[in-house]
Amino acid sequence: MNPYQELLGKKVMSPGPTQVHDRVRAALAGDYTNPDLDPAFLDFYRDTAEKLNTMIGNKGVTYLLCGEGILGLEAACASFIEPGDKVLTISNGIFGKGFDGFSTLYGGQTSLFESDLRKGIDLESLETFIREKGPFKVATLVHCETPSGITNDVEQIGKILNAHGILSIVDSVSALGGEEMAMAKWGLDVVLCASQKAFSSPVGISTVSLSEKALAVLRNRKSTIPGFYANLQIWDGYYEKQWFPYTQPIHLIAAFREALDGIQIEESVLKHNYFAQAIRETFLAAGFELYPQDSFANTVTTICLPQGLDFKPLQDRLLENHQTMVGGGFDMLANRIFRIGHMGENANREDLTTLLVALEECFSALGVTLKSSLAKTFVAVID
Ligand SMILES: *Cc1c(COP(=O)(O)O)cnc(C)c1O
Repeated sequence: MNPYQELLGKKVMSPGPTQVHDRVRAALAGDYTNPDLDPAFLDFYRDTAEKLNTMIGNKGVTYLLCGEGILGLEAACASFIEPGDKVLTISNGIFGKGFDGFSTLYGGQTSLFESDLRKGIDLESLETFIREKGPFKVATLVHCETPSGITNDVEQIGKILNAHGILSIVDSVSALGGEEMAMAKWGLDVVLCASQKAFSSPVGISTVSLSEKALAVLRNRKSTIPGFYANLQIWDGYYEKQWFPYTQPIHLIAAFREALDGIQIEESVLKHNYFAQAIRETFLAAGFELYPQDSFANTVTTICLPQGLDFKPLQDRLLENHQTMVGGGFDMLANRIFRIGHMGENANREDLTTLLVALEECFSALGVTLKSSLAKTFVAVID
């Protein structure tokens, strides 16, 4: 038996990592060239990064870094925040607030703007906060707050930040591919994503997209960036120099390219929106409460655990009896919610219906009475 046998064949319906398509997995198994020596790789890398750049409407440049999503968040903070810079941390959730720690780590003088945790960022109070506490050089914000299932209106937030001359760093890790993004049109400067969420590629690629303005800011930075792996300056002109900072994960990049090639972005956003609505209707009809009160995400739905039910027995039963996983809550949401990741390859009728049948069995066994069948409502809503 393979030592990794126990890791295979499970249904991953969590909000990232998501299920990987056979086509993408096959791309991982290629007998690839040496990425350090072969000029064909340099073009392949650039074309892949360009593809994502175009998909999200960026006029600047996109880099693919070797690491999961957090690497991009840290690289952006390391590269765009200089000691003493005033940084606005825009938060309505765990990831939003978490950004504050990265900014502080790189010398930022942060001000934390906190918005209602169950709603999208409140634009009016954000603008008031900036007027009172600004000026700021940089703002960090989260597009989709994965732990709570809330998608913030980054278009409107971008407008406010631009009106105040603030450079934006946007964590779009669980949004890109499933939510609309028009980076240049919306005036966003740094947009971060990763391979394992709505792109449904294996974990290991962090994407960093920089606007032309962000590139100029990066080039004109005064102090030295403390670090190498998280230093975005070293990527500047990689193509012309034919040089990468480290050996590129060619298998992961090939898989990511295969995943990108399978996505028609407008169609993908519509599909995500469609399944997200159906999942919400399904749980509401069965008597559940959704955690968000507005700004529901297209990619993940966060549902309050029924009174008296802990997450652990649900998780255990789902895994043991159905070889299936959903997400739980962490931090202030620990044991309060569960989350369904309906992003990327998870967003399809068959897998979601199978998941709902499994959840029904678990709820029934755990003594939770539903007002209506999850699977039946779901199928009725989407057909
Ligand atoms: C998944 C995710 C990240 C990256 O976390 P990983 O450690 O790569 O899983 C960052 N931000 C958000 C909003 C995410 O959903």
